[in-house]
Amino acid sequence: MTDEDRAIQEKARRFVDEELIPHELEAEMNAGQLPRDVIERQQAKLRELGLWSINMPRDLGGTELTSFQQVLVSEQIGRVTNGLGWVLHTGPEWAVGVFTADQVDRYLKPMVAGDKRECYAITEPNAGSDVDAIEATARREGGDYLLNGTKWHVTSFNKAEVVFFQAKLAGGPKAGSHALFIVDIPSEGLRMVRAPAYSHTYADQHAILEFEDVRVPAANLIGDEGGGMDFTYAWFRYERLMIAARCCGAAERLIEEATAFAKERVQFGQPIMSYQAIQHMLADSLTELWAARLMTYRLGREIDEGVDLKVQHAHCSMAKLYASEMANRVADRAVQIFGGRGYMRENVAERFYRELRVDRIWEGTSEIQRNIIADQLAKRGAGTLAG
Ligand SMILES: Cc1cc2nc3c(=O)[nH]c(=O)nc-3n(C[C@H](O)[C@H](O)[C@H](O)COP(=O)(O)OP(=O)(O)OC[C@H]3O[C@@H](n4cnc5c(N)ncnc54)[C@H](O)[C@@H]3O)c2cc1C
Repeated sequence: MTDEDRAIQEKARRFVDEELIPHELEAEMNAGQLPRDVIERQQAKLRELGLWSINMPRDLGGTELTSFQQVLVSEQIGRVTNGLGWVLHTGPEWAVGVFTADQVDRYLKPMVAGDKRECYAITEPNAGSDVDAIEATARREGGDYLLNGTKWHVTSFNKAEVVFFQAKLAGGPKAGSHALFIVDIPSEGLRMVRAPAYSHTYADQHAILEFEDVRVPAANLIGDEGGGMDFTYAWFRYERLMIAARCCGAAERLIEEATAFAKERVQFGQPIMSYQAIQHMLADSLTELWAARLMTYRLGREIDEGVDLKVQHAHCSMAKLYASEMANRVADRAVQIFGGRGYMRENVAERFYRELRVDRIWEGTSEIQRNIIADQLAKRGAGTLAG
């Protein structure tokens, strides 16, 4: 790590400790919500620290950290529960060089500035892991497209001004291929069906949306007709790496908190830390965290070095798979070490136990990550992927 890397990591750590962790319980007891002035203070602090839009180019108003530095920041953000770390705004990096000049002005710059927030509508009732099974359609009509479809789990819809909508083209030379659109919120024909309750207590909801003849100008098509899946893959790679980083941060916090508790908690006349059963749970957790962290850090550096995209894709799956499963094992052990206290919502282990579960599901389930890894292994060999 360079001095600059370490300084960024330290800044992010202090921000999490001072500005986010103290608000976890308040959020847990208030449906994930924090008062407006608290969020505004956190946002101002992030800007002051140079941690705003860390993944976006400077000429668009971002901080443009290296991928490795973004990993360091995300890891710290992962140490906090209740999605409070989402205040660290990271816009759609994949859109850089893809959006037209007009789309950059109307959408990307406001996203980088934090004036517009985006959400993603890809998953459908009959298309989850199998993205190619989507039934949503986009039909060209003069200078517009008409969008139709039902979308599930649309994260942050309640806070967003823009939704990226993935559909298959109905008609035209590229009929049946994927296309991605920018849709303003609100738009005529776009309706929230409901916002179901999920395991975690986050302010960001995961809405079910209905698109019924939503009309968008052709200028809101992203890239070319048929290019929809490329952008989705780029987004998946970025998110999988950042999930791995956040899982490392969560595991570190859990290990620290569980160790502190084990040293203090006395049963049968001794701190429970003196019992081998407890020691081994912590030792396994620490060892697995180290492995996940090494993997994630190396992947961050690989991306900065411009390693082959297919290798990056496989490594993003490997890091996400290993780190998310590691963090879930660590959370389970932490609950066990805290005993009955670990089952209370006011306990960090209880919250992480619920919250980390989704990291094995979203942005591609563990099973899908294994499929990707095995596919790449067959094509490239173990030496290329684990050398
Ligand atoms: C909290 C939350 C937020 C989300 N946010 C968004 C969002 O913002 N935008 C969005 O578009 N989507 C979002 N999603 C959707 C998420 O990406 C999907 O849930 C995920 O991709 C899995 O799809 P599915 O739920 O339909 O499960 P399915 O694909 O139906 O899978 C069910 C089970 O079958 C397994 N399975 C499926 N295919 C295979 C296979 N080939 N081999 C082995 N096993 C297989 C899966 O691993 C899983 O265990 C979110 C989901 C959650 C829970």
